[in-house]
Amino acid sequence: MAYRAPSRVSGKISGKNILCFIGLHKWKRSGGLNVYASNVREKYFVCERCGKKKTVYEPKKD
Ligand SMILES: [Zn+2]
Repeated sequence: MAYRAPSRVSGKISGKNILCFIGLHKWKRSGGLNVYASNVREKYFVCERCGKKKTVYEPKKD
């Protein structure tokens, strides 16, 4: 016989966050930094759903 534990909502991964779980984040620009001494520009993104952050380095064009 199978005992069924009461279903618990496992906090983070629920609803639309499933997209984040499989890696489809909703990136939103959260700022950037122009490093004059280097050849790249830093851009910061944050996921609107889960709050994950990433930094993208973009080469500067003259
Ligand atoms: Zn996310």
